[in-house]
Parts: sequence; structure tokens; C-alpha cells
Amino acid sequence: TEAHLEAVAEAGALNAFVHHTPEIARAQAEHADARIRRGDAPDMCGIPIGVKDLFCTRGVPSQAGSRILEGFKPEYESTITDKLFQDGAVMLGKLNMDEFAMGSSNETSTYGDAVNPWRAGNSDASLTPGGSSGGSAAAVAARLCLGALGTDTGGSIRQPAAFTGITGIKPTYGRCSRWGVVAFASSLDQAGPMTRSVRDAAIFLRAMSGHDPKDSTSADLAVPDFEAMLTGDVKGQVIGIPREYRIDGMPEEIETLWARGIEMLRDAGAEIRDISLPHTKYALPAYYVIAPAEASSNLARYDGVRFGHRAKLGQGDGITEMYEKTRAEGFGDEVQRRVMVGTYVLSAGFYDAYYNRARRVRTLIKKDFEDAFAAGVDAILTPATPSSAFELGANFTPIQMYLNDVFTVTVNLAGLPGVAVPAGLDKRGLPMGLQLIGKPWAEGELLNVASAVE
Ligand code: GLN
Repeated sequence: TEAHLEAVAEAGALNAFVHHTPEIARAQAEHADARIRRGDAPDMCGIPIGVKDLFCTRGVPSQAGSRILEGFKPEYESTITDKLFQDGAVMLGKLNMDEFAMGSSNETSTYGDAVNPWRAGNSDASLTPGGSSGGSAAAVAARLCLGALGTDTGGSIRQPAAFTGITGIKPTYGRCSRWGVVAFASSLDQAGPMTRSVRDAAIFLRAMSGHDPKDSTSADLAVPDFEAMLTGDVKGQVIGIPREYRIDGMPEEIETLWARGIEMLRDAGAEIRDISLPHTKYALPAYYVIAPAEASSNLARYDGVRFGHRAKLGQGDGITEMYEKTRAEGFGDEVQRRVMVGTYVLSAGFYDAYYNRARRVRTLIKKDFEDAFAAGVDAILTPATPSSAFELGANFTPIQMYLNDVFTVTVNLAGLPGVAVPAGLDKRGLPMGLQLIGKPWAEGELLNVASAVE
């Protein structure tokens, strides 16, 4: 813990940790030491971790990367952090992220950009660690902590993992409790671990999983010992390669990476099968209707009354002006864009044309996966992202930024588990990741396949 606290203090330039909690870390570490001496040491005992700022942590600033939650210190602990602390984990601090987890580059954060510890060749240019769990990815990649909590609504664990050369898994929807995790799009949000290896991810995931009566969407299912399932044996497993993921303009290096992943699995005895997921091309538009719709509803609670920031009011300002000024000051551009899109697609005149249609598309996307699994496919291999890390300040349009999620949003729409594993470097020496998509509740099997391409 001391070594990690020192590393965190020295790595300020990465802007990965945005709230430091050394007192909590030391107290937890001492407690963990005592347990280890007593021979009562669960898996996470004494393991220094970082926590994405989206999680409510008792008495510790929890701002979801937003100005509107300035000064907010929850009086309660999220179920996941509570479970991890019960298991002996040590919290070093809270990690940078895109505001309310909306973004793919960590550039929408009120704390400023998090920085990728990787550099392209000899270039000095700062690269994005990805987003929205950019701080989590940067912290794990830079060895500031042994693992970090992330959340993934459309790719926010897997894309930053791919950009920083680490492993990240988004579990099946319902595997982990969302209680105390600030909501972005409730039907898509799922927390997961970001770690240096598949084995670490398996250990971390088991500690954070399980039913929670406080989250009605959390599943009442036993949590398997994911680590024990890592046999490395993938003989006879059927790996689907979806042709719709071979998109126009995909860099050759990503194609090569994918081909290499296919070869590795084939060499390990897996059967490779071409498959079709015909509704893939509608996933991104459906996601960018459903996610903003849910966000506009979830973010209605930030009104300057109950949490965090409240704007200074002028003479004659009433409650309406208080809401408007607070929200205008407290929310950044991307969040305001999502709230506007979300309220529009939910409005009486457009509900059927946009929101309901997107929901129907979502069902078709889910069915594509169900059909593939019913036909005998065990897991699906794709690239995790359509590129490696890009420069901070690249000034993409929103649509260009949304294209980052082209391979990941399908998995959230279908509620499936998806893992990103580092699988090679591009010509600039930057990491690239592959994604494996599994059947519902098959995180153990999925991590085992991932360990074969790791
Ligand atoms: N980049 C996507 C978005 O901005 C995904 C974010 C996420 O998974 N939290 O919505």
C-alpha cells in the first residue's frame, strides 16, 4: 500500500486519481495485515485498488466527473465497494472519468483529461487512455494500483482497457449490483474490473459479483469461482467470427490483430466459425437513442436542491432560474447534448419514431446473439476498438467520437458479458485489444477463452 501510495503521488501528471484517500488506505491496509496474520485473508485482502468516481464511497467525494456533484460526499457506500472492502481491498482513491460516464476519451471530465501512460514511438504527444473509465485504465497501466473499478454502458471498460494494454471485463447485465453507482443508462450500465491480467480480472470479478436485494435488476445466481475456471483449455470450443464487424475503413493493423487472435485460438484447438449478426449496423444508432433517453431521465435529479453544486442566484430569480442556471453551469457540453437528445426522443411526438423503434432494434440485436449461441457458438471474437489510442485534443465531432463504440455497444444492448484483452502492439508501439463476447452468465468460460489469446 505504501509503495502504491507513493506511485500515485508521483504520477500526478497522468491525472488518473482525482481524490486521494491515503488515510483510508492505511487503515484498511492495517486491518488487512491483521487478518492475514490471523490466517483470515479473502482474495482481495490487502490489494490496493482505485475506484472510478462514479461509485458512491462513504465520506469521500463522489462526483461522477461532473461539476454538478461538486462537494457531494455520500453518506453510504455502493454495494460493490462495500463488498470489496469486506473482502479486504484497500482504496487508494477515486479515479478520473468522463462526465457521468459519457465519452470515449476522458475529455469530458470536470477534472481535465486523464493521460495514457503509453507514448507513440518517440512522440511527446499525450494520448487518451480512452473513456469513460480513462482514469481507471491509466492507473492500472501505470502500475499505480493492482486493479481498478470501471463501469461500462457502451464500452467504457473495454475501450480504455484496449487503449492502455490491460484487461477489462463487462459482466453480464445483473451480475454486479448497481446500487450506489451513479446511473447513466440504467438498462445498459454494468460495473467491472480492470486489471493487468485475465487471472486478476477473475479474482476481482468474483469479489464484486452477487445478488443484492437493493438492486432489483441484480440476478439471484450463485457466483462461480471464475479463477478456478481458467484452465487454458479451449479445445473443441466454437469461436464465432462475425462478418459484420469487418467494417469499412478499419485499419489494416486491427485486421491483422484480429487474424492473429483467430490463429491463436485455432492453434489452441478451438473451432473457428464464420457467423452473421445481421443487425449489427443498427446498434450504434439504437444505443445513441436509448442511452441518452435513459440519461435524460436519470439526470433530472441534479436540480441544485439535493446534491452538490447550486448556482448563485440574482435578484428576482425563482426556482426555475435556479434549476436552469445550476444545470447550465453544472453540466458540460456532452452531458447537455445527451439530455437534449434524450428528452427529444422521449417526447410525445417522437417517442414511437425514435425510442420505441430503438427498443425494437435492441431486441433484434439480442436475438442475433441468441441465434449464434443456439447454433453452437461458445464465444465471439472481434477487435475491441476500431483503432488504437488517439491524441488528446483531437477534436472529433460527436459522431466521430461515438464510432469508437462500434464493436462494444452491441454487447451492452444484448446484456452479454464482454472482455477486452491486450493482444499486440501497432506500428507506433501502442497496445491494441481483442474482444471476446460470451453467453449470459458465462464469465468464467469467457475469461478462460480470453486467457488463450492474452
Ligand atoms: N462512449 C460511450 C458513451 O459515451 C460509452 C460510455 C460508457 O460505456 N459509459 O456513451
